[in-house]
Amino acid sequence: MSANRFQRKYDMETNVVIVGAGPAGATTSIFLAKKGIKHIIFDKADFPRDKICGDGLSGKVVSVLEEMNPALLHKLYAKPDTFLGSWGVYFAAPNGKGVNIPFRLNGRPVEQPPGFVARRIDFDYFLVQNIDNRMANPRFNCEIVSIERRPEGVVLTFRQEGEIKTVLAQMVVGAGGDRCPVNKTLTSYKLAPDHYYAGLRAYYKNVSGMQDGNFIELHFLDEVLPGYFWIFPLPNNMANVGIGMLSRDIRRKRVNLREIMLKAIKENPAIRQRFEQAEEVEGVKGWGLPLASQKRPLSGERFVLVGDAGSLIDPFTGEGIGNAMFSAQIAAGVIARAVERNEYSASLLEEYDRLLYDRLWDEIHLSYRIQRLVQHRWLFNFVINRLNSNKKLMDTFSLMFNDLDMREKLKSPLFYLRLLFNR
Ligand SMILES: Cc1cc2nc3c(=O)[nH]c(=O)nc-3n(C[C@H](O)[C@H](O)[C@H](O)COP(=O)(O)OP(=O)(O)OC[C@H]3O[C@@H](n4cnc5c(N)ncnc54)[C@H](O)[C@@H]3O)c2cc1C
Repeated sequence: MSANRFQRKYDMETNVVIVGAGPAGATTSIFLAKKGIKHIIFDKADFPRDKICGDGLSGKVVSVLEEMNPALLHKLYAKPDTFLGSWGVYFAAPNGKGVNIPFRLNGRPVEQPPGFVARRIDFDYFLVQNIDNRMANPRFNCEIVSIERRPEGVVLTFRQEGEIKTVLAQMVVGAGGDRCPVNKTLTSYKLAPDHYYAGLRAYYKNVSGMQDGNFIELHFLDEVLPGYFWIFPLPNNMANVGIGMLSRDIRRKRVNLREIMLKAIKENPAIRQRFEQAEEVEGVKGWGLPLASQKRPLSGERFVLVGDAGSLIDPFTGEGIGNAMFSAQIAAGVIARAVERNEYSASLLEEYDRLLYDRLWDEIHLSYRIQRLVQHRWLFNFVINRLNSNKKLMDTFSLMFNDLDMREKLKSPLFYLRLLFNR
């Protein structure tokens, strides 16, 4: 018998491989571990690592962390120098006028901050440190370079310290973000520029006039509607400053987003004074935001896609971390069933699409409608003006941003009639 017969065909074998250890991948890993499912998780980066983002962590992130392990949330609350609690959001209309909307839970004021702002280099590292190494085999600094579906499973090739190795998995979780290789290789889905934002981010120190309660600020500038310019406060007098715009509009209008951002900082009457003493700590960097506004397949034979790999970013707010973590939580349940039955068919894994869209689609669809409404500059200015002059309306509006049923009202012509007559 030749020695080759005893050589293994693959360097490693496992039931589940996760590609990417950002919020989607790390959360999948943590929930799989809770269910006792062993797996391998790859990331081409080593942690801590940066990710271009606004760094805003919404209430959905808080809810998933609570499900994961309530103690994790207390760890965040205990480190305000890294995780800054945020109590609300400030919306500024294109005319520069704005409203403050405190975050609430089901209309009730809350005791702990309902959201956070934390640099992704810190938040993602925090999640990765909570991966359970008894169930997970983390392979960082390992880039997945090819993926092939074969009758015996999915074969992934990865580069580790200059060497090329292979792993055979029964199924793969695509958590590789906007350019996830699982999405690129195992699906033919292409996101249209109507459903894609381009985003830029920079870090500044000493931006003045920050809101009490560390409110995050969305400034809806004329040039980028329905996108916005943002200022999100960070610990130690730092701020995450950025801008997002639909790719469709960037192409149509042939604009340079970086120039629009820097012009707003230098010239916009509602913004420029705030930056007079500010210092850029890290320059402008860009990345894409695949929006959830178009329903798409999230699974197939031997794979599921979570987070940005499945285009799950809220089309109005641009928040993707919450949906990345929530999709991971749902996916872990379906993966556990697949492993238990040793069945990785498209029909079994499609349960993930169904469960996720059942929970998220109403919210996403509504956000998409609001995104389209705010493209009308006059309507946006009008709503903000009216809210500023009527406290009762302001309270109703505040509830809308915290409660999905209330948000439905934004679609109703009656809401705008009420605004018109200022009741
Ligand atoms: C400018 C900007 C601002 C944003 N602001 C906010 C905000 O304030 N709040 C919010 O909630 N969301 C925001 N988002 C969206 C948010 O960043 C994403 O939704 C979120 O990062 C999705 O997490 P993820 O785990 O799916 O992907 P990612 O965070 O992108 O993680 C993917 C991981 O996969 C790894 N990977 C990729 N390819 C490979 C490979 N071949 N092999 C191995 N590993 C690989 C990467 O190294 C990375 O670690 C913003 C996005 C942008 C671009």
